Amino acid sequence: MEPIGPRNALQEPRFANATTFARLPTLAEVTNAGIAIVGAPFDAGVSYRPGARFGPLAIRTGSQLLRPYDPAMKLHPFGTVQVADAGDMGINPFSIEEAIATIEARANELASRAERLITLGGDHTIALPLLRAVTKRHGPVALIHFDAHLDTWDTYFGAPYTHGTPFRRAFEEGLLLEDRSFHVGTRGPLYGDSDLSDDEGFGFQIISSDELVDAEIPAIAERIRARIGESPVYLSIDIDVLDPGAAPGTGTPEAGGPSSREVLRLLRLLRGLVLVGADLVEVSPSYDHAEITAIAASHIVYTMIGLMTTTMG
Ligand code: MN
Ligand code: MN
Repeated sequence: MEPIGPRNALQEPRFANATTFARLPTLAEVTNAGIAIVGAPFDAGVSYRPGARFGPLAIRTGSQLLRPYDPAMKLHPFGTVQVADAGDMGINPFSIEEAIATIEARANELASRAERLITLGGDHTIALPLLRAVTKRHGPVALIHFDAHLDTWDTYFGAPYTHGTPFRRAFEEGLLLEDRSFHVGTRGPLYGDSDLSDDEGFGFQIISSDELVDAEIPAIAERIRARIGESPVYLSIDIDVLDPGAAPGTGTPEAGGPSSREVLRLLRLLRGLVLVGADLVEVSPSYDHAEITAIAASHIVYTMIGLMTTTMG
């Protein structure tokens, strides 16, 4: 059976009616899906500017102009498997521990109705429960983490669950395939050299923001593909990987980042990797201008969907 695609913008204006991601049907309308897009509106884990709880709403609004054919990847992201919008998780904004438990539980529930999940954050805290849920089905994963930051710090003010610590927790919980994971786009000041040596101990390799300039993007893609091979991959993209000029609407901006063109190009070249789950986090729309950040985020999610479908029936 043909998947039900986005609402036809030639019959119904893009700015009309309820806002789903890319004007896709809701999960309730299709019952089951190959890929579900779900929002996790939670930002109680941030260390600086708040507001990512409004990220899912902003990304959906920024996605209304997306069209059904991707000429850069030569595929129809919504044409081969059913893609649907599952709405938002109902997350406690006052308790990080309860929020994490809820996100894990909702992701596990959705797994019975959608083969793969793409989550719209929310701050980066949400990646930990999402990784717990995805590894329950696929085992430990190779993490490709696009971010200006490492997000492998230990604690803030003694708190172990924050947006700067999810991947140290994930490593400690055995959720990551050691020696298969990457940070991409890292830059900016650290607390000290030990941040990097700790991180290396968790099995990550770093492709810094400078390397995205110095090396050819296809060569970087090849390096990632060679190290990961056939392993299941989880892709976690913090929108602050982009230069603040390309994504001002975020909580912890760092100067000197790549453009959306460079990140989208690298993503497309990862085609064929077995992408079993993904998230796009840290869009904080009150710091955005003219939807710059939300539009970049929506195009990244669009590309994630296309990538994911290349390894699905
Ligand atoms: Mn970041
Ligand atoms: Mn992050």
